[in-house]
Amino acid sequence: MSRETRTDAQLTLQRENPAEADFQEKRQRTAWYVRKLEEHFGEPVWKGRRSPVDSLIKTVLSQSTNDRNRDRAYDELRRRFPTWAEVAAADPQDIAEAIRVAGLANQKSVRIRDILRWLAQHNGGFELDNLCEMDIQQALEWLGHLKGIGVKTLAVVLMFACGRDVFPVDTHVHRIVRRLGLVPENADPVKTFWQMAKLVPPGKSYSFHMNLLKLGRTICKARNPDCQACPLRQNCQYFAQSAAALRQDKISQPGKNT
Ligand code: SF4
Repeated sequence: MSRETRTDAQLTLQRENPAEADFQEKRQRTAWYVRKLEEHFGEPVWKGRRSPVDSLIKTVLSQSTNDRNRDRAYDELRRRFPTWAEVAAADPQDIAEAIRVAGLANQKSVRIRDILRWLAQHNGGFELDNLCEMDIQQALEWLGHLKGIGVKTLAVVLMFACGRDVFPVDTHVHRIVRRLGLVPENADPVKTFWQMAKLVPPGKSYSFHMNLLKLGRTICKARNPDCQACPLRQNCQYFAQSAAALRQDKISQPGKNT
């Protein structure tokens, strides 16, 4: 919120405990973003529980590619190997052939095979329903040592497949929350994840994630964000800085852009 709209209590906190005041301000602002995006795009409805292992493999395939190629690779993998046991037993070269369209096929094929083998050995098969009972920290401790599985992958599976209130930070989300000023410009995706976990209002992870994706694909694109069309511009650091830079430009070069 802008300084002008702060209450006396907030100003006192700002004086006495600036770090806490900053955190509270970001929490309030995040709740405002959630509301604004729901007003603009509607409140997305979770599509219901899906197989966590299917979701996990799909998420590994999605790394460094788009949704379309991820889906094509996944469909081809399932067509050639109808069961996960067959993938676990397959030659990585054959898996790589099936998933080629998703890119990094040689790396992903080994990772997928190794993840499935590990599950067969340590989880008694290819079901992964017990993951849905874990929080993100437990899930990381359990599976985070496997190559291709990190906090983003697990957050995606927990939210999409299990319906857990976990907020994944993908490329679009990472870009937008940095522009909004919720995390520092140089924050990496993992730091951003832990920071956002504290800021997103309870029960709003799915809504906020899905609406930020929509915003990132339609308005807050990587290049040339269309800030004039954005429902968040009133409280966006990037927009405020761009507007200030433009004003400064006009003051120092009167007549330019007129
Ligand atoms: S105001 Fe601009 S930079 Fe900020 S979130 Fe909207 S589109 Fe992105």
